[in-house]
Amino acid sequence: MSSIIQLLPDHVANQIAAGEVVQRPASVVKELLENAVDAKATDIKLIIKDAGKALVQVIDNGQGMSVTDARLCFERHATSKIRLAEDLFALGTKGFRGEALASIAAIAHMEMKTKQEQDELGTQIVIEGSKFVSQEAAVLPKGTSFAVKNLFFNIPARRNFLKSDTVEYRHIVDEFQRVALAHPSIHFTFYHNGSEMFNLPISTLRQRVVNVFAGKTNEKLVPVQETTDIVTIQGFVSKPEFAKKGRGEQFFFVNDRFIKSGYLHHAIMAAYDGILKDGAQPSYFLYLDVPPSAIDINIHPTKTEIKFDDEHAMYAILRASIKHSLGQFNIAPVLDFDR
Ligand code: ADP
Ligand code: MG
Repeated sequence: MSSIIQLLPDHVANQIAAGEVVQRPASVVKELLENAVDAKATDIKLIIKDAGKALVQVIDNGQGMSVTDARLCFERHATSKIRLAEDLFALGTKGFRGEALASIAAIAHMEMKTKQEQDELGTQIVIEGSKFVSQEAAVLPKGTSFAVKNLFFNIPARRNFLKSDTVEYRHIVDEFQRVALAHPSIHFTFYHNGSEMFNLPISTLRQRVVNVFAGKTNEKLVPVQETTDIVTIQGFVSKPEFAKKGRGEQFFFVNDRFIKSGYLHHAIMAAYDGILKDGAQPSYFLYLDVPPSAIDINIHPTKTEIKFDDEHAMYAILRASIKHSLGQFNIAPVLDFDR
């Protein structure tokens, strides 16, 4: 009897995986920025054209890749970040799935340039729809540049599903802000159609928040600081009188990763209990540090959800520390510009 089951060729498997990882140009922005952060860059440039539909490019001054790795990075499940499943519970990097570049390369035209500090020459690769078009040695600075063009060129349904430039640009700004807020020790610049949209020098956490949102952000912020056995919390919440209708700027990070958590959002709202006008939302920029072994990040391919060992304790600590900070501020309103 003949068999009817076949293993899918790599390029088909990659295209299927891409459906999960890459929803829109902003997904490419997120993956490339996170790779640059993982490569220990101190300077990261994001360049986009037509809201990322024509071009998404990320240039970093990080550690770069060897000639062999430059090719390997486009393979599925190829990663330098973990070796064993156990490593997931001691994770110090944004990436670990080894599928972002394989996925993006399956559904776009990509040009990569990379050089390690110790190498004389760098490597330049062009890959289109999972097919290597060329690989050459080149004179390059240390670091890596990925340019992604013609996203979804081979999935017309996805390409047509993209929203207006205004909407897609907004999604990109969201992703950029999340990474920039998580890493004040990295210099970020962001260009759209040749105009500089952001230029964020290396700074303190407070100054980074202010630089990202500009305007009168500084005077709105109340510092939050708490250290317990299971978590260190730092960051800022907005003074109640600055709360506004609709979602404010609300950012929640765990181990420098932007996380969405309805449950912990509720804890923050509970800390404001009784001091907000009806329907008003505070802004917050909160950074939790927990031992990597106390969380599970491998819940969703985009890694914006997390499972805590002890979610209830986290809720209680977060609520109490914000309540405390808001209370202290009410008694003695101090503007602390140095934090
Ligand atoms: P992951 O980030 O989960 O490892 P990716 O597909 O995003 O998977 O990247 C694959 C590998 O390519 C990474 O593990 C890393 O070794 C290498 N890489 C990707 N981007 C960069 C970069 N900007 N600088 C240096 N190495 C990179
Ligand atoms: Mg990655």
